[in-house]
Parts: sequence; C-alpha cells; structure tokens
Amino acid sequence: MKFTAINFTCPSCGAPQKFSPLTGKLKCEFCSKEVAIELSKEIIHEYDFSSAISTLHDHKNRTIDKQVHCKKCGGDFTLTPFSFSSNCPYCQTPAIVDFVREITPKSILPFRYTHKEAQHLFTKWVGSRWFAPNAFKKYTQGHDKLVGYYLPHWTYDSDTNSQYSGLRGDIYYVTVTKTVMENGRQRRIQVQEPRINWTPVSGVVHVSFDDVTVGASQTISRTILDSIEPWDTTKLVPFDEKYLLGFEAEEYTIGLDNGFEYAKAKMAYKIEKNIRYDIGGNQQQIHHIDTKHNNVTYKNVLFPVWTASFIFKEKEYHYAINAQTGKVVGQRPYSYTKIFFALLTVASIVGGLMYVEEKGYLDKYFQTSSHYYIPH
Ligand SMILES: [Zn+2]
Ligand SMILES: [Zn+2]
Repeated sequence: MKFTAINFTCPSCGAPQKFSPLTGKLKCEFCSKEVAIELSKEIIHEYDFSSAISTLHDHKNRTIDKQVHCKKCGGDFTLTPFSFSSNCPYCQTPAIVDFVREITPKSILPFRYTHKEAQHLFTKWVGSRWFAPNAFKKYTQGHDKLVGYYLPHWTYDSDTNSQYSGLRGDIYYVTVTKTVMENGRQRRIQVQEPRINWTPVSGVVHVSFDDVTVGASQTISRTILDSIEPWDTTKLVPFDEKYLLGFEAEEYTIGLDNGFEYAKAKMAYKIEKNIRYDIGGNQQQIHHIDTKHNNVTYKNVLFPVWTASFIFKEKEYHYAINAQTGKVVGQRPYSYTKIFFALLTVASIVGGLMYVEEKGYLDKYFQTSSHYYIPH
C-alpha cells in the first residue's frame, strides 16, 4: 500500500517541525521557532466494549507493506507494518501516515522527557546499581540508540462482581505440657501453642476498575511494559498528530479482545486481595472465584516510551523509560565478582557464610529486573 507522508512546516522558514517534549510545542530544527499546539476541546470518551467486539471485522494482525513517499526530499521508503509515524531515512523529515487498524487512538500522553533527559536517567540508573559490571557502565555512556516511541495501549473500565467460597482461619492458643531437659534432669513445663480453626466462608465482593492499562504493542516485552507503569491517564489529551512529529508511533498489534484478557488478569489480582480482606481472620484460603464483568468500556491510547537495547557480551538487554514519569525499567548484566563480595560482606556481618550458599538469594539477583525512578 502506498502512503504519502504528512509533515508540518515552520511558518518562518519552511523547514520541518518536530514536537518538543521540553515545551510541549512544535519546534523548527532549522531556525528554532516554536509554535504552540492548540489544545482540542474534545472530550475523551470511553467506548462500549461489547458493541465494539461485535462490530470489529478483523481481530487478526494484518501485515501491510507501508510504502511511503517523502514530500520533502521525494525519497521512497517502507515503514514497518504497524508504524504510522517515523522519520524519513534520507532527510530525517517527520513522516506520519494513515492508520490501517479499525480502532484508532483518540487520546495521547505527549512526551515529557527529552532524548537528553532520557539518556541522563538511563546513565544514572546503570550507575545506581552496584551490581552492574564496570564494563557495562562504560559501554552505555554516550550511547545514542535511544528511540522515542508512542506505543499503543488499551485502557479498560469494569464493574466486577465476584462470588467466592473458601475458608477463614482464626488462630487460637492451647496450653500444652512438654518435657524438657534442664541440667541433665527432666522437667515438665507448660507452653502456649498456636492452633488454627478453619471455617467455611462464601460471599460476594464488588470492585470497580478505572483505566486498567494494557500494552498493545509487541515492540517491547510485556514484562517491561507492565513494569514502567503506572500511567497517569488523567493527563490524556485528545489525539493530535502534531505530538508525533519526530517520534516513532505504532498501531496496536494486540487486539481489543486479547487486551481485555490481560486486563482481567490484572483485575483478578486486586479482586483476590479484596476477597482476602472480606474473609478476614488470620489466614484465608480461596477455593473458588466467579467474576462477572459489567459495563466494560475501553479506550485506545498512545503512551510515550524511550527505549533501547544493547548487545553486551553476546547477550541482548532491553530497557525502557516511561516518558511521562521518568521511571526506568530494564534488564542489566550482573557482575558475579561484585555479587560474591557483596554477599561475603553480608555474611560476615551476620557472623557466618551461610548466605553465600543460599542459592535462592543469588537467583533473585540474577533474574529480577529492577526499577529506578526520578520525579520530573
Ligand atoms: Zn524555521
Ligand atoms: Zn525525505
């Protein structure tokens, strides 16, 4: 399919404009003139989920070759199938093309962190982790592979009703007599021992969810997308393609229906917590939960993310920065030597070497991703 790229030109000199996260305006890269983006008065709507599902034609990913013609330099290039905003590879002019998916984004969180700020956040994040190998820290200094993406997300609202059954455990104490050895002689003492009394319980909990967000892109792993949350959706503004100028932007590749399955899983976590609270007692066992979702609504939105990946010692590492809040999330290599000495120090403080041998402790550091957060 052939597309002609849309771009916006500077009123002073005619050069292409780009969106500036620093000022929230369009900025001319040639003469630095800034032009404000008029904020649309349009209200951001929630859309009915079930009627959308019943009218959607195409729930599958369609692969379209997006052949784009640049109006500025006349160059032709191909965009990745779901990309609708990029820069011309020949002249770097922002290129925005039409949507191909049935549901288009109606609102957007504009970038608040610049490329430079994102680099700074990342360098700090690497440096703040004592376990990152020195070579990695050096390698990541002065990198420029950071790419700004507007990634598609779904938001879901739902009023849930969950019927549950299970057991409530209440602790009580009994006095038991025990025989102990004291100075080589047997002695009988009385001690208090805890017991638990389980009673069958059942009930209903209601939880209302507002804007549960689900990443609808496969460009970044779900783990990373989930970890850079939360997004402040009260700051959403009506969609305007001017916010995209100079940034990559994608349409959804995870459909409205699949997205809701992820949302349900996120909701289930909170529902379970509410059920435990409803059961009360000292311990709870949940045997059965039946959740009904009512008044489900959705929005298709774009969230700003800085992202990059690194090959370090033949392994690929990814990281991302929430460009609304500045939260950094990623995978980092760990220095085995540093961890060993750190554990040795911990171990000597507590007076033994057993911590080093605790495999679980090491595994924790080798596998988990980590978070770093600096407010804007
Ligand atoms: Zn200009
Ligand atoms: Zn061009």
